[in-house]
Amino acid sequence: MPKVASTRRPQSKPKLGQHFLASEDYAARVVDALGDVSQRTVLEIGPGRGILTSLLAKRARRLIAVELDRVLAAQLRLKFGMARNVEVIEGDVLAIDFDSLFGPKPGLSQPGIELKPQPVKVVGNLPYYITSDILLRLFKFSKYFDSLVIMVQREVADRIAAKPGGRDYGMLSATAQLYARVENLFTLPPGAFVPPPKVHSTVLRLTIDPQREKLGVAGDGFIDFLRLSFGQKRKTLWNNLKLKYDGLELKRALAEAEVKPTVRAETLSLEKSAAIFRALRPTQAES
Ligand code: SAM
Repeated sequence: MPKVASTRRPQSKPKLGQHFLASEDYAARVVDALGDVSQRTVLEIGPGRGILTSLLAKRARRLIAVELDRVLAAQLRLKFGMARNVEVIEGDVLAIDFDSLFGPKPGLSQPGIELKPQPVKVVGNLPYYITSDILLRLFKFSKYFDSLVIMVQREVADRIAAKPGGRDYGMLSATAQLYARVENLFTLPPGAFVPPPKVHSTVLRLTIDPQREKLGVAGDGFIDFLRLSFGQKRKTLWNNLKLKYDGLELKRALAEAEVKPTVRAETLSLEKSAAIFRALRPTQAES
């Protein structure tokens, strides 16, 4: 018998978070949430079988789609080979060199004139196993982006969007809100995906709006300070910060920031955390 090439689609790989969106309506709502992209570059994370990619290819001036799965990346290259505005990169979004992709190109700038590239919009039904890592990486390179429309597990979306004092507020909320304004757009049931995941998914829009300068914590160290503050959920702020700071100094800084030592970091606004950090700065400079 002659061998017949299989026309079956490759199996999904759960390890890579492969739950493919199967609803054109939801796909359109995700892409609509980016706004007008006709003059913009869009970065798509994890295009998979290309349901968002097909819409984006029609709308965006330039689309860069980063897919880790070799087979899917090859299929996408075939599918979008004729689309001159689409570039498919087979690679890990956690390792992509954003500086060379989106940074200023040598030779294009002239002495005294800085050509600032237009910010990029990011979209993706993210592989859930690395949601936080992807977000942290996007924030690290946030100078290249102005908005992110991302689909994440509903519980993670709740944490990203949570307000201080709420059950879900923690390190992920504080970090996200240090870089962006967060909007919860809509939630999708497991049945909107193939294969269906065990969880609901939520689409968020993060509009990049860095707060560090406004809060007076632009240099290094504030993220580490937040991590220490949230260190152990059940501990008070005092007990978490005491692991690094001298007691007297900590007492003075908390008094200066008008924060009681017995509170938990989960109840503090970013402004209050920044006030404590600023008050501790003289100590940090000495250490
Ligand atoms: N966008 C498609 C959709 O909505 O149907 C696929 C979404 S699926 C939840 C996540 C996609 O991310 C998969 O195609 C998976 O192979 C890809 N992926 C997983 N890890 C990745 C990584 N580190 N870098 C880039 N893509 C990744």
